[in-house]
Amino acid sequence: MQHLYNFRMSELEQWFSTLGQPKFRAKQVFEWLYQKRVSSIDEMTNLPKALRQQLKEASALTTSRELTHQVSKVDGTVKFLLGWPDHVTVETVLMPHDYGNSVCVSTQVGCKMGCTFCASTLGGMIRQMTAGEMVEQLLYSQRMLDEKEQRVSSVVLMGSGEPMDNFDEAMKFIDIINDPNGLNIGQRHITISTVGLVPGIIRLADDGRPITLAVSLHAANDELRSSMMPVNKAYPIAKLMDACRYYVEKTGRRISFEYALVGGKNDSLEHARQLARVLKGLPSHVNLIPVNYVPERNYTRTGQDEIQAFLEELRRLGVNATIRREMGHDISAACGQLRAEHAGLV
Ligand code: SF4
Repeated sequence: MQHLYNFRMSELEQWFSTLGQPKFRAKQVFEWLYQKRVSSIDEMTNLPKALRQQLKEASALTTSRELTHQVSKVDGTVKFLLGWPDHVTVETVLMPHDYGNSVCVSTQVGCKMGCTFCASTLGGMIRQMTAGEMVEQLLYSQRMLDEKEQRVSSVVLMGSGEPMDNFDEAMKFIDIINDPNGLNIGQRHITISTVGLVPGIIRLADDGRPITLAVSLHAANDELRSSMMPVNKAYPIAKLMDACRYYVEKTGRRISFEYALVGGKNDSLEHARQLARVLKGLPSHVNLIPVNYVPERNYTRTGQDEIQAFLEELRRLGVNATIRREMGHDISAACGQLRAEHAGLV
């Protein structure tokens, strides 16, 4: 059974030719899937009846179902938990901003990276998401926006999972949602986040797509970073920064660095100075993210004054930095929290 959301346009054309169908049918189907956003093959009324029947027998549209969703009363953030027939679940978050709607997509079921501040990794990595399953996450959000005649304007691959550990499917997902015959989401409005997998950063640099790279740094010395993010043992900060410099040289694009502030852990002024030293000379932007409280990790939040002082120290040292506005803090908005709750992991 083929998953229709799992095809790039060129792949759909190819598949249709194996079915003895002309190329233009692929374009028609793509429009039904992504512009008209139908929920069944029967609704594709400009396809011959025989072809619709053939497609119904050989392919599927939506393969997931919504298990639950939460809506923030504070800022309208919506968090979906989707479930697939093999009983895996992932979260997707739709965030309304002044500048448009952004969607945070999960690229793996669970995660094996083991970051100590993250609920997604509590049960390990169960399996990869296919590109089509990522597309479904986006379409759930877009259908919700359709009711308000709005569209998804930006996408971040920053939900559960490490996108660089599922590189080919993540790139395929980007191609599908970027296609002008489909959702037509500009590559400049797509951000891929990584925990710092150096081979992935190099591959992305060589690949040349004009998407934004976000690196989760969270600490600027190896000892601390390794204690928070086990991946640092394989790719310590010096190696990671070499890859980042290579990325900037190849693409001419600045990198976003994510820095989750964890109370008493990585949020002192000395930590800010270390961060400024590590980023010196690299075109970059730092997003400071005060962590949501993860009860089973026993982490506390950095106080408001300390957050401000950290930011000011970075700016004093010439680092381009802002504090990320916290979205949906009245719902289970921390990465992986809704899924973990649903699975009884927390
Ligand atoms: S923060 Fe990201 S990479 Fe780290 S464990 Fe969570 S999902 Fe995985």
